Amino acid sequence: MEEKKIMVAGLVPESIVDGLGLRFTVFVQGCPHHCEGCHNPQTHPFEGGEALSAGEIFTHMEKNPLISGVTLSGGEPFCQAEALLPLAKLVKGKGLHLCSYSGYTFEELVEMGKSRPPVKELLELCDVLIDGRFILAERTLEKRFAGSRNQRVLDVRRSLEEGKPVPQEEWQ
Ligand code: SF4
Repeated sequence: MEEKKIMVAGLVPESIVDGLGLRFTVFVQGCPHHCEGCHNPQTHPFEGGEALSAGEIFTHMEKNPLISGVTLSGGEPFCQAEALLPLAKLVKGKGLHLCSYSGYTFEELVEMGKSRPPVKELLELCDVLIDGRFILAERTLEKRFAGSRNQRVLDVRRSLEEGKPVPQEEWQ
C-alpha cells in the first residue's frame, strides 16, 4: 500500500524552543481545535501545506548530525497519525528523541487510540507529549515548552504504564 504523505505547514531544521536539545520540528497542516490566540493560525485549514513523505523529511533531518530529537507540532499532529507513523518509526529507529504537541489531552488520545490504531501507535512512539489546547486566559510565560497553564509536559512511557498522566520532570 502506498505510504500516505504528511501535509506539512513548515519545517524548522534547528529549534531550541520545541523541547530540550537541538530539535528538528515538523509543523503539520490542519488543526480542528481553533484555540483563541493560537500562534499558528495559518496551520488551521486542512487544505494546503506541502505533501512530503516521511523519507523526504527524514533525509532532510539526517543531514544535521547535531539534532538530538524531533518535535511534531502544528497544526494537530494526531489528525495525521497514520501519515506520521513512518516518520516516527524512522526517528525512533535512529535512536532519536520524539516529542509531539497535541491539542488533545493525553486522556483524549488514549481514548481515540482505542478506535484508531495509528493514534495509539504514534502516542506509544512519543517520548514526550505536550498536551491540551492553548487557553488564552491561562497563558503563561513560566512554562518552558507550553504556552498555557493547562498544558502538560508528559513522560509518555510512564503515563501509559501507570495509566495516568506523569510529568516529564526534566522538561518542566
Ligand atoms: S491546538 Fe495548537 S495549533 Fe491547534 S489551534 Fe490550538 S494552539 Fe493552535
